[in-house]
Amino acid sequence: MAGVYIHIPFCRSICHYCDFYRVASACDAGLYTDALKNELRLRAGYLRGEPVETIYFGGGTPSVLEADKIQEIIQAVSQFHGVAGNSEITLEANPDDLSDAYLRSLRELTSVNRLSIGVQSFLDRDLVLMNRRHTAAEACECVERAKEHGFADISVDLIYGIPGSTVADMAFNLNRLFNLEIQHLSAYHLTIEPKTVFYRKLEKGLITPVDEEDSHAQFTFLRKQAGNRGFIHYEISNWAKAGYFSRHNTGYWKGEAYIGLGPSAHSYDRVSRQWNVPDLRKYLRGITDEKPVFEKEVLTLNDHLNEVLLTSLRTMWGVDLQKIRQTFGLSVAETLMKGAEHYICSGHVRKEGNILTLTEDGYFISDAIVRDLMV
Ligand code: SF4
Repeated sequence: MAGVYIHIPFCRSICHYCDFYRVASACDAGLYTDALKNELRLRAGYLRGEPVETIYFGGGTPSVLEADKIQEIIQAVSQFHGVAGNSEITLEANPDDLSDAYLRSLRELTSVNRLSIGVQSFLDRDLVLMNRRHTAAEACECVERAKEHGFADISVDLIYGIPGSTVADMAFNLNRLFNLEIQHLSAYHLTIEPKTVFYRKLEKGLITPVDEEDSHAQFTFLRKQAGNRGFIHYEISNWAKAGYFSRHNTGYWKGEAYIGLGPSAHSYDRVSRQWNVPDLRKYLRGITDEKPVFEKEVLTLNDHLNEVLLTSLRTMWGVDLQKIRQTFGLSVAETLMKGAEHYICSGHVRKEGNILTLTEDGYFISDAIVRDLMV
């Protein structure tokens, strides 16, 4: 199977924590849609005929695109790469875009069958701090509306570890979320990245990050409560009801090939990685000249091993030592095991048969563990 990622870089306003590639300008939908269709044509051979089973519109804010444009892009994916009948087609959407009319047009004009809604918090205080464009009540209403329009595979994004947040806030957020009876939850710990408004506020002492103990407590609470409500914790930041794992993201974590379209989008064909120029103007000029602008890196065996560690260890499927032996050799697997032993003893990594997975404590220091085990 293969996936297609489509980056829609336009945002109506800029959130104070965001460091994604995006532009705060109105989208010339016709021009941009044509560019994506041309990129699909120019890179028609990229997936070497592998059928596409997942399409993911990410951003930026994909819900700034009208439904007819979204469907034009899906049809172009089908024309140049072939889309399997039971494909998962996800649209990331902001609550303020999910009006009755927009949801109806998505249902009537597109084959989008999964929504990933950027709620981030059900607390108005946090939404104001993050400069989100919607209120908590509007977020709840849009999820209910999406369900009424027949969307039956809905994911909600939450951000935790927001300055000033507590376990009680997490309890409040989860209570609201569980009441909505959705199928999937992505919850990310806030990281304050350079060049964001939060970073400038941090430098001026206007906000204070939550300390490690509070972060840990929020994550532990989230994990326990989500488990109690029947959500499976299948990746460090992702929980889903059985049968509702994100097939697209699972493809990334299991090393499937994917093509990424639009400025800054990454692609992977199992041999190399490449990433489009993170600049809308340069991207559009490259497509007009029929010479897409991107950088490319052919992966060495070590790069491949590092990719496997980076993507697998944070999932419930973990790292399969038997596969490591077969793909990279006995000595690589032994070195990996030697590195992992320290974390097994400290209770951060679990070994069951040939499978290494993170424990609950391990999830919390996953970056350090993966960095340490990488070649
Ligand atoms: S978080 Fe999403 S909506 Fe907000 S600025 Fe970033 S890409 Fe745009």
